[in-house]
Amino acid sequence: MRWSRYYLFTTREVPADAEVISHQLMVRAGAIRKVAAGIYTYLPAGWRSLQKLMAIVRRELDAAGAVELSMPAVQPAELWQESGRWQVYGKELLRLTDRHEREFCFGPTHEEVITDTVRRDVKSYRQLPLNLYQIQTKFRDEIRPRFGLMRGREFLMKDGYSFHVDAASLDATYDAMLAAYRRIFESCGLDFNVVEADTGAIGGSSSHEFMVVADTGESAVVRCPECGYAANVEKAETRPLPPPERGAGEAAPGERREVATPGVTSVPDVAKFLGFAPDRIVKTLLYDTEQGLVAAVVRGDREVNEIKLANLLGVQHLTLAGEDKVRAATGAPPGFAGPVGLAGDVRLVVDRSAADLVGFVCGANRADAHLCDVDWSRDVAGELERGDLLLVGAGDACPRCEGTLELFRGIETGHIFKLGTKYSQAMACNYTDEQGEDHPMRMGCYGLGIGRTVAAAIEQNHDADGIVWPRPLAPFEVLLAALNPDDPEVGRAAERLYGELRERGADVFYDDRDERPGVKFKDADLVGFPVRLVVGARSLAEGKVELSLRRDREKVPVAVDEAVGRVLELLDRA
Ligand code: ATP
Ligand code: MG
Repeated sequence: MRWSRYYLFTTREVPADAEVISHQLMVRAGAIRKVAAGIYTYLPAGWRSLQKLMAIVRRELDAAGAVELSMPAVQPAELWQESGRWQVYGKELLRLTDRHEREFCFGPTHEEVITDTVRRDVKSYRQLPLNLYQIQTKFRDEIRPRFGLMRGREFLMKDGYSFHVDAASLDATYDAMLAAYRRIFESCGLDFNVVEADTGAIGGSSSHEFMVVADTGESAVVRCPECGYAANVEKAETRPLPPPERGAGEAAPGERREVATPGVTSVPDVAKFLGFAPDRIVKTLLYDTEQGLVAAVVRGDREVNEIKLANLLGVQHLTLAGEDKVRAATGAPPGFAGPVGLAGDVRLVVDRSAADLVGFVCGANRADAHLCDVDWSRDVAGELERGDLLLVGAGDACPRCEGTLELFRGIETGHIFKLGTKYSQAMACNYTDEQGEDHPMRMGCYGLGIGRTVAAAIEQNHDADGIVWPRPLAPFEVLLAALNPDDPEVGRAAERLYGELRERGADVFYDDRDERPGVKFKDADLVGFPVRLVVGARSLAEGKVELSLRRDREKVPVAVDEAVGRVLELLDRA
């Protein structure tokens, strides 16, 4: 491809709304163009990178036995009503009405459509298992579209769905997909971790996310360097915390006593005021849920993991309660809640490590007062509902071994999930077994963000001058630049090299533009072609051209006649 005939326009300007480097560089390198918030045109060079990723995805999934189809973007409301998601999906779902006043949505995901498809065609256990996938445009009306293709509203996703008679069959396909995803991200040259992910109310450890390591990632992940345990912090576990140390000579807890703490509400302030370490204080947070008010208690030195809490309660919605509700439940303004003497209709759930405390400090459910030397069994009526509510962080103990957890940030590029019979049951997607009995199929689903993965590759592969594409995702692998194409010698040599490279099957882009050498070098760095071959009058006079890798930019003069062979060799090291 000749640059003079191609649609690739670079810019030095950093777009004002581009917070992360991949977004900045994709715009500057002429890969994408914003049309509206979270909605982009994939310009030709960007589209080539996306297509290269899609080819890798198809290669690995086809090899693993998955079968490609393509489902519509616009989906009838009836299917979503059947699954029950029409009501619960919320504002991310873009709802549409057609000229006959029929309701539709622009698909954010395709469980409903695929389940409807399969239930029409598949009746018998003999037809299962099945594993279907598509690469298709989704729309999610994200509250904060940002970071370019990383969190768009309209975006390309590979989504796959599998159907099974039993758990063993689902496990086998799930494992095959996990391995295929590994191969896909390895093929892209990405540094990633496979981590355990939250499965919501379904439970179990049957969901994994693929996290590309990047400081700009929106997900927090913990990892044990000893045993390799890795999990999204939404789901991460740790061993129960070691009990707080008691001061030397400190007596066992005595009678419960109320102390005045005028205007002192936060844990650090209470700790300072009363002279207790925060790990001897408990924090009581009141949440509004569809089941009513809930009081969650954690140790004062720790935070509540709201996803664990929602799963434990079995609720969909969880928000911190407003002041009125706090007053109604505790009889006090916010900041003085505690587990002793809460209103009877408030469900109390206590994190394991807080429940293990002996003689602790908590709010007194009275304005400007706290309680000291509180004892769960003595002071709180009834059986304590305890669970793991802890937000795990760096330095916590690994739940699997003696190691210590580290924290890193990641970009979630893939997510696989065992769905069980959630959709097949709701939508009567059944098979008949050998005895002639009907059962709902078991399902798995497998998502991979196409644009997000390409953006993640740039987050990991760039320098001050631009993108440093890993070869598999580069829009073109080789840049051939003629520094002065009007010079007849240079023009002839460059044309000949271009022809030869194409003949030898190289993925070559020819900068034949009438631009200054400085512009050409800057553009080449910005767009990030892995291998560069430069034809200039000075070296050509000595029968040489200059070869370099984008990664280190070390220039090597090579004889014109050997140049093509050397390019092909170098590509293998790019
Ligand atoms: P997130 O937590 O980042 O919103 P999600 O859990 O909603 O992601 P899934 O529903 O599992 O994502 O979608 C599968 C994959 O689709 C994700 O792993 C990600 O790569 C991609 N993806 C999801 N939302 C977006 C988006 N708004 N823009 C680009 N890619 C996305
Ligand atoms: Mg999402």
